[in-house]
Amino acid sequence: MYLKEIQTYGFKSFADKMDFEFTKNINGIVGPNGSGKSNVVDAVRWVLGEGSNKQLRATDSTSVIFSGSKSRKALNSAMVNIIFDNTDRHLPIDFNEVSIKRVLYRTGENEYYLNGEKCRLKDITELLTDSGAAKESFNIVGQGKIDEILSTKPYDRRVVFEEAAGVLKYKKRKEEAIRKLDRTNNNINRVNDIIKELETNLDPLREQSIKAKEYLEYRDKLTNYDISLMIYDCDRYSNEFENNKLKINRINDEVSELSNNSSSYDVSILKYKDEINKLSIDINDSNTRLLEYTKELEKTDSDIKLLRERKKYLAKDDNSDKINKLKEEILLKNNELSNLNNESTLLKEKINVIENDIINNNSKYNEIKNKINKYNTDILNNNREIADIKYKISYLEESISNGNNLPNGIKSILHNPLFSGIHGVIGELIEVPDEYALAVSTSLGGASNYLVVDDTKIASRMVEHLKHNKLGRATFFPLDVIKERHIDNDTINKLQMIPGYINTLNKVVKYNDKYENIIMNQLGNVILCDDIDNANKISKEINNRYKIVTLDGQIVNVGGSITGGDKIKSNDVVRQKYELNEYKEKLNKIINDNNDILSKLDEHNNKLHIYEEKIYHGRLENNTLNEDINNKESIKNNIQSEIDNLNKELKDILTINNNNEDNEENTLVNKYYKIKEDIDKLKKDIDLLNIRKEKANNDLNEVEEASKNSNINIQKLEKELSNIEIKNGKLEIKMDNILNSLNEDYHITYKDAKEKYILEENPEEVRKEVNGLKDKLRDYEMVNLGSIEEYERVN
Ligand code: ATP
Ligand code: MG
Repeated sequence: MYLKEIQTYGFKSFADKMDFEFTKNINGIVGPNGSGKSNVVDAVRWVLGEGSNKQLRATDSTSVIFSGSKSRKALNSAMVNIIFDNTDRHLPIDFNEVSIKRVLYRTGENEYYLNGEKCRLKDITELLTDSGAAKESFNIVGQGKIDEILSTKPYDRRVVFEEAAGVLKYKKRKEEAIRKLDRTNNNINRVNDIIKELETNLDPLREQSIKAKEYLEYRDKLTNYDISLMIYDCDRYSNEFENNKLKINRINDEVSELSNNSSSYDVSILKYKDEINKLSIDINDSNTRLLEYTKELEKTDSDIKLLRERKKYLAKDDNSDKINKLKEEILLKNNELSNLNNESTLLKEKINVIENDIINNNSKYNEIKNKINKYNTDILNNNREIADIKYKISYLEESISNGNNLPNGIKSILHNPLFSGIHGVIGELIEVPDEYALAVSTSLGGASNYLVVDDTKIASRMVEHLKHNKLGRATFFPLDVIKERHIDNDTINKLQMIPGYINTLNKVVKYNDKYENIIMNQLGNVILCDDIDNANKISKEINNRYKIVTLDGQIVNVGGSITGGDKIKSNDVVRQKYELNEYKEKLNKIINDNNDILSKLDEHNNKLHIYEEKIYHGRLENNTLNEDINNKESIKNNIQSEIDNLNKELKDILTINNNNEDNEENTLVNKYYKIKEDIDKLKKDIDLLNIRKEKANNDLNEVEEASKNSNINIQKLEKELSNIEIKNGKLEIKMDNILNSLNEDYHITYKDAKEKYILEENPEEVRKEVNGLKDKLRDYEMVNLGSIEEYERVN
């Protein structure tokens, strides 16, 4: 840097515009006394901001303006402009030339310019300090100064040299520093006073803050337990509610079936009553006729007796008595025979009735038997399925806890007690609600098996282990390096307006906060939406910039390509846990179903037994009746042969007697037996009618009993129905209470709570814990939550 040019106009003796150009070498200005040489130096001092009139050899500040001469009028302003060459950038400003200009008006107004721009004196001073060009730096050795330097004491001389060498600058800085130190010391003293005062407040505040923190910790724990317990209870209630609804449906079906039966019973009852009525009338008629016949029989009998009395007094030499007797005996026997026939007919009728019963009972028996067979096959099938599902459940449970599906390398690491700092595979570190399992599992893909470890150092050790033992490859996610990935806010805002958008994938899973960066890395930039059509629309809308996955596991990749098709048969942990839940639910359902079938089976087996007994007794009775008929048959044979013998005897006698018969008696006796046979026939007919009536009565009783039973059953079922409905009402109230409590106490919806809070411990233990925490929190009633922040602030 060097001084290149000085331009003056109106400054002191320079009434005209003056322009001094300097070279890099030494420049001299010569002239007679009073010609204005010193004014050049004054110009430099002045332009650099010199304010001392003495230094400027002026009476006052405006006296530097040209004051006129004999031949020239005074001027109204003075201007000096000095120009430095700055090609070496000595001055910290990015110009090859630096011009500094000062203008003063008679009015006293002062203006400074830096490279033509108006500025403050301060800007100029700041620019020049350290360059040695500032007004304080004594690069200017004024007139008479040389004498002073040469003649004064060494100490004073030293000051001059120090000034010239720029030490003054540091001295000034030192003074400034000492002043600052003083100020700082004062501040420290003040701060110490404040600290002393605050310290007396701090101890009680610390205690309050500790208590408040404890309170918050317990409260958070309580919130966590309470909500997860509520969700657990609510789900349990809802399950029971749904089961009850199934039961209600089943009972309703049963009731309507029974009601149908009831109306068919009513029809049957009417039919039987009608039949019994008709039979009763028939029996009455028959009895009346029987009475008439009996009277007639008695009359005929007395006629015969009278005739025989009369005959006693008539001498008879023929065998007519004997003949009559024989004939009567034959009639009597025939009568017996026809009686036996009648009885047999009756017995056959009885057998028929019983046989009909047996057929009826048999068809009912078969009906029940068929049902039992069906129930048995159902139970068998269910049992087979239960065993199958149980096997699958235990397989999945073991597989999940042992990581059986993981590649060997990963397994060898997970189960190696020598390695620490391993958290597990990603799939295991998240909880996924069933409805999102497919989406999460497909989106994660192989990443489900990435191992989460503390840091890169551990990861390197593991890689070494895999390599050394030839155990294959694995991907590691060290917690200290994996970065979160997000969907930008603009896109999120846009997504919220698009139908089908559900959430970002990280939002639908639950995980420990310490895995935030890992989960965000894998799921934070994936969009979840309902179906593939909407996924395509969304992808277009956001310029294919993010991956989108649908509920059924189709993927629209970044860039718009689509991966999808049938359900993917992946075996990752997420998928396995989802399957495990599905199987458990299915198992419960089947076990319930089996219990229902078992109770029905019991009921039907009892019924079956009753019909078995009935059929057995029917057969037994029919056997006895058949035997009876057979006996009667042999008796009939005997009687028939007796009749044959009697007829032969009669024939013989008639041959001897020349067929000389007593016709009158014969006619009467014949009539008597004819009537007697009619009576017997009528009696048997009445018996037959009675049997039918009895059968109808039995049937009526049976139907009435069945109808009664069916009504009792309907009542029982209706009572059960109302009990279940009451239970469901109570369950609904309980669930409502829980939902209210979630809303009012914790300001969370059931859906959100279910996603965030999962009961991981034994529910009854947790219930105890919740009660304990509630008791504990009661002691913290007066806790001051503000104290935590206040303590931090004061501390
Ligand atoms: P020497 O050789 O005696 O040192 P010099 O060349 O240094 O003399 P200066 O002292 O610079 O001369 O000049 C002084 C001259 O400047 C005087 O003639 C004085 O009248 C003139 N002068 C000073 N102030 C003004 C002013 N405001 N208006 C007009 N002329 C002025
Ligand atoms: Mg001079």
